[in-house]
Amino acid sequence: MTVPNVTLNNGVTMPQLGYGVFQIPNEDTTQAVKAALETGYRGIDTAAIYGNEEGVGRAVAESDLNREDLFITSKLWVDSFDYDDALRAFDDSLAKLGTDYLDLYLIHWPVPTQGKYPEAWRALEHLYAEGRVRAVGVSNFQPEHLARLTSDSDLVPAVNQVELHPTFANTAVEEANTASGIFTEAWGPLGQGAIFTNPYLADIAAQVGRSVAQVVIRWHVQQGRIVIPKTVNPKRMEENFTVFDFELTDDHMTAIDALDTGVRGGADPETFEGK
Ligand code: NAD
Repeated sequence: MTVPNVTLNNGVTMPQLGYGVFQIPNEDTTQAVKAALETGYRGIDTAAIYGNEEGVGRAVAESDLNREDLFITSKLWVDSFDYDDALRAFDDSLAKLGTDYLDLYLIHWPVPTQGKYPEAWRALEHLYAEGRVRAVGVSNFQPEHLARLTSDSDLVPAVNQVELHPTFANTAVEEANTASGIFTEAWGPLGQGAIFTNPYLADIAAQVGRSVAQVVIRWHVQQGRIVIPKTVNPKRMEENFTVFDFELTDDHMTAIDALDTGVRGGADPETFEGK
């Protein structure tokens, strides 16, 4: 099975389905990422704050794949938004990942109370201009944070990675992203596990003869966004990967859209300060 690529606003292509490694201890990450690569995942989503970039790097080094066959994303943590700190944090991530470039580098959270994300963006612009990262973007940015960045800078983020799943569709953010040519990437795409107790999703899964995870990942894919589910279980990696051989009907898509409650599972980007 092949994962389709999406084309970002600078022409770089990115696998629409990738593998996230949040909360996987560094010592378990190599094995998990190796299993993901064996399954066929080529996009890997990590972050400095996850503490497992070394584990990702080891899996990449030990695999037979060429670096250019992979799409590696990492993220700048909120304690490194001063320009020079951001450049150092990027170098540190590269060293841990054992690579000399990233495919995508994101500002992890805006922390508007700190007011420094435009400075961090200038550092990302510099890294991008140097060719050390193929695309740059943001994560957890609300439309007003995006507007502030784009009023200050000619470089439009390629991606905004935000919480998005059936009970939190984050529609206003996705619409603002689309209006600016920014790809939406869903984190917590399975509601960080919460979808598995939803009886409506279980009902649709039974109707289409697929698992709840497959139905929800397929819903993301059909809506055209990038999606990065996480599991350390190789069987579930395979299950989550097998979503390109069936389609949900318009009625099923509409029924899943109707599950939006507008209630987040994770932190609020307006107030989150990284603690
Ligand atoms: P997720 O929505 O991917 O859910 C993960 C949970 O679902 C885990 O408990 C896992 O065991 C379970 N699961 C996965 N596949 C399953 C299956 N087929 N059957 C049953 N259970 C299954 O949550 P997540 O890990 O928080 O999000 C995915 C990725 O998004 C992360 O790994 C990380 O890379 C990224 N992320 C980014 C941010 C951010 O602020 N930018 C925040 C959280 C996560």
